[in-house]
Amino acid sequence: MATKVKSATKGTKEAAKIAAASHSSNGAAQQHQSMFAAVLARLDKAAKLVNLSPEVAAVLRKAEKQIIVGVPVKMDDGSVQVFDGYRVVHSTAIGPSKGGIRYAMDVDLDEVQALAAWMTFKCAIANIPYGGAKGGIMCDPRKMSAGELERLTKAYTVAMADVFGVDKDIPAPDMGTGKREMAWIVDAFSKVKRHYEPGVVTGKPLTLGGSEGREAATGRGVMVAALEAMKVTGVNRKTATAAIQGFGNVGSHAARLMHNAKIKIVAISDHTAAFHSPKGIDVIAALKYAADNGGVLKGFKGGKEISNEELLTLNVDVLAPCAIQNVITAKNANDINAKIIVEGANGPTSAEADDILAAKGIVVVPDILANGGGVTVSYYEWVQNRYGHYWTEAEVAKKQDDSMIRAFENVWYNAKQYKTTMRIGAYITALKRLEKAVKYKGFF
Ligand code: GLU
Repeated sequence: MATKVKSATKGTKEAAKIAAASHSSNGAAQQHQSMFAAVLARLDKAAKLVNLSPEVAAVLRKAEKQIIVGVPVKMDDGSVQVFDGYRVVHSTAIGPSKGGIRYAMDVDLDEVQALAAWMTFKCAIANIPYGGAKGGIMCDPRKMSAGELERLTKAYTVAMADVFGVDKDIPAPDMGTGKREMAWIVDAFSKVKRHYEPGVVTGKPLTLGGSEGREAATGRGVMVAALEAMKVTGVNRKTATAAIQGFGNVGSHAARLMHNAKIKIVAISDHTAAFHSPKGIDVIAALKYAADNGGVLKGFKGGKEISNEELLTLNVDVLAPCAIQNVITAKNANDINAKIIVEGANGPTSAEADDILAAKGIVVVPDILANGGGVTVSYYEWVQNRYGHYWTEAEVAKKQDDSMIRAFENVWYNAKQYKTTMRIGAYITALKRLEKAVKYKGFF
């Protein structure tokens, strides 16, 4: 056993080394710390506090399965490009593995490992019967045609046909993918398997067995998490202000729903521009503007244009980073002025920034709790597919809100109980459930 634990410790360095090696051909990626190493740093902290059994820690420090595929695609100009595709199954301790597929240029094994592990913890915190996985393809979907993306998605699905399965591994949307890609996956997977299998992915269009409320679910969870955090920190909801970074599937719904809940949204942004208005941004007008403007905010007139970096440092009650990872780091954590941070994105805060924010007394509702609404409604979608019976939007929303409030209370309780941050409290909540599952199942 001692050797096992030792080898697990080596795992961190190994992961960092692997990450450094895989980044060495990529100057931009080299600048950031290994994301998986950052996951392990938090996992180790929580494991120590909760006295996690060394065997369980060793199991959770390694992904169960990692698949890398080369995906050849005929491009519109007749050339063939071979894309790097990944799927990491981190854990199936609690159930089949679950997690999205992202299309982005910085996708690599280290990032997918980290995102897969977060899915394991996220599902355990949300108390849904899934393990964790993540997939990704290194590509720039903004520069590809719909035809190229369809061929890429279907070729990747065929390559992963033995990995995916309704009781094995269930993908969903993530950055750069949405219901369109999920529909393509259903098509390719069903053709390979020779039977219709809509439950193999979630986040599908409604006509193909998608769930009411799935598209808005992650943003809705962010809104509920923000309201719960205001309660426990004593922020007055009636006068509360919020800044939201990101206006994609997570940020735009979070902004809309917080705006509906009468929270004053003073700043919004996307990858093209950021806007600030102390009087409050008309979020509905911003949504309409983006819809008529190729999906982006550039040129919006409802606020003063600021930089994304300025948005992060605004003096607001709630800051919700809902865009990409590593936007709050040791470099800018000292300049953050929000009272509460609600992490809509996966990994927006680096591990070094955690301590700085904690020392400043900022309450961080971590990603693995705050953005768990998406996978929670994914679970409802999967249940509805298997059941063949569909719920209304109001039924889904009620179940989701109840589930999010329960998860928030559990994490808050563990954070208080172990005198730690909500992030480590969230890991503790997950580890307690995972430890039971791993131990019940045993080893061979
Ligand atoms: N990609 C989303 C996440 O990071 C959703 C995953 C899912 O629904 O399986 O949580």
